[in-house]
Amino acid sequence: IRLSNSYHGETLGALSVSDVPLYSATYEPLMLDVITVPAPDCFDREDGETCADVARRQFVHMEQALTEHADEVAAVIVEPLVQCAGHMRMYDPEYLRLLREACDRHGVHLIADEIAVGFGRTGSLFACEQGPITPDFMCLSKGLTAGYLPMAAVLTTDTIYQAFYDDYEKLNMFLHSHSYTGNPLACRAALATLDIFESDPVLARNRELAAHIEKRLEPLKAHPHVADVRQHGMIAAVELVQDKSRRTPYPWQERRGLHIYRHGLTRGALLRPLGNVSYLMPPYVITEEQIDFLVEVMTEGIEKAVRA
Ligand SMILES: *Cc1c(COP(=O)(O)O)cnc(C)c1O
Repeated sequence: IRLSNSYHGETLGALSVSDVPLYSATYEPLMLDVITVPAPDCFDREDGETCADVARRQFVHMEQALTEHADEVAAVIVEPLVQCAGHMRMYDPEYLRLLREACDRHGVHLIADEIAVGFGRTGSLFACEQGPITPDFMCLSKGLTAGYLPMAAVLTTDTIYQAFYDDYEKLNMFLHSHSYTGNPLACRAALATLDIFESDPVLARNRELAAHIEKRLEPLKAHPHVADVRQHGMIAAVELVQDKSRRTPYPWQERRGLHIYRHGLTRGALLRPLGNVSYLMPPYVITEEQIDFLVEVMTEGIEKAVRA
């Protein structure tokens, strides 16, 4: 079971649980059979609704899918709190709490793909902590090495580990590897990164920086073409629309975000858009002054984009 608007990568299994037709259409005959449940996207909130309300409202679909299919599904996979590739759409931790409870009740494994949100990105070391929940599998990469070298890991529980731990003759092992699995240099980069989390107050500092980003982006909420300013820790996104009251999107062909990107380049800032969404996902060493600068450039870029 996957959520709508999900992204989990582009190898066949990961692509199958990603809801990105642009990437998967070509491989359609090879895709695994999956069940898609509408995401608890807080962008879809109605007047007076909180993100937690949306999470509870949308969870009905997940509950229904689990009730109907629990005996035939391998797992539920989610990106906790932020669907990054899916235009930085965000949802409330309440959904994780409900999902963990329902997966336990239905006997279905829960996979948390924290590849983008892990290692302090959303304010806690792992986004799942905000449920708070513990998944059965947790996918990690990106922040694991601070991006310096490629490395990924899947963490699991002792229960799963024990299911593959047996006498050698029974051949009951979990066989899965790549040529460079456990690459020593990548492992060293990961250890160096983990050392920094231990020696420096990275999470505390991130919370201060995130509060600064929030304060600086606040004025954009009133902009006539900004439908949403959303944030989970060190991910902040500004979504442009043609008509604010109806939330009518700009036609994607107009590439409004590209104007922000191009303006950014003239000012020495890399503001890569996701369609009509401009976002900040800065390295943790960013300073408050640099945040001020980025928000200033983004705001100028938005003016250009909406006038284009
Ligand atoms: C980047 C990303 C992936 C893809 O990871 P690869 O190592 O490129 O396969 C998967 N899931 C999420 C949430 C990501 O952001």
